Parts: sequence; structure tokens; C-alpha cells
Amino acid sequence: MENSLPFGSVVLAARRAADVVAALHPPSRLAYRETVCNVNDVLARYSEIDTVTEVEFDDLKLVTQKIYKIFTVLDTGKTAMLLNNVLAEYASTPCLRRGKNKAWQVCVDDGEGASWVERFAAASALAFAVLLAEKGWNACKLCASSSCHRPYVDVSRDGSKNYCSPRCATRERVAAYRKRTV
Ligand SMILES: [Zn+2]
Repeated sequence: MENSLPFGSVVLAARRAADVVAALHPPSRLAYRETVCNVNDVLARYSEIDTVTEVEFDDLKLVTQKIYKIFTVLDTGKTAMLLNNVLAEYASTPCLRRGKNKAWQVCVDDGEGASWVERFAAASALAFAVLLAEKGWNACKLCASSSCHRPYVDVSRDGSKNYCSPRCATRERVAAYRKRTV
């Protein structure tokens, strides 16, 4: 499958990875086929041109377990180690390729020789690694809301974001206010 993300897509690739992981963690009680549909809905939102098949799904689950770990650590050195492990397993020599929109992309997968899941793992790890190198901290976080814990990517300048969405931030603010005023 061709990576259809546009040029300058590090943040998009990181967000896509977070949303795919979120669709699979915690392990869903949804039926197998329904979970595959949910993952494909996420991919469609990112303009992916192909879908994950049920055959690839077990491989994707394995990869997302490894990627999920990256969202659970705060220590930058440990994050780098986990990312290096994923890159060592799934990435190959970086190269430039033209995407379907003709824009040049830095790719670290085996191209035609790699499965979609392998490309997803390599592209996600590369995106996270670039963000870590740019920011100096792990941008992959779990939402601090006790009723959410969804994986998200903090692209704020100083890493001050604690929640995956304005909705979670508002809910927690209201809950904290209520606690104070009871
Ligand atoms: Zn949240």
C-alpha cells in the first residue's frame, strides 16, 4: 500500500498511529469484524487508500501493542530505546519516494516488499522519533482523564497538554470544580 499521507506529514503520521492504537486498546469487547471496521474508519479519516484486511489484523494488533508501550513511558531515554527497537525490527534504509500526490516523502520501509502493517510500524516509529528529536521529550501520551486514557500526540510547544481533547479537559475541569465546591 502506498503511504498516502501528504508532504510534511510527521504530525499526521503520529496522530494516525495514535488513533489506530486507540481503536485497539484496551483490547476491545467488540466483535473481531467490528474492530477491523473501526480501524478502517480511522484509516479512511486519514485518507488511506487501502484498508486492513482480517488476515493482516493479527499482525496489526502485535504492532500496536509495541507502539502502545511508547505512549506509556515518560522517560525520554526509555522512549528512545522502545522506538529504536521498533525501527530495528521494521525500518530499513531511509530513501526518498514520490507519494501519490507526487510529493517527495522520506520512507523507511521496504516499499513493495513490505506489508501494510510493516509500513505502518516503520512510518509511525519514524514520526515519533522525529518528534522526540525535535521536542526533546516524548510527544506520545495517554490522556490524563481517568475515564479516558486514550493515546494522543501532544504537539504543544512545551508538552503542557494533559488531555486528548478539549472535551476531556472540560470534563476534568468541571469535575475538579465540583469536588472543590461540595
Ligand atoms: Zn481523553
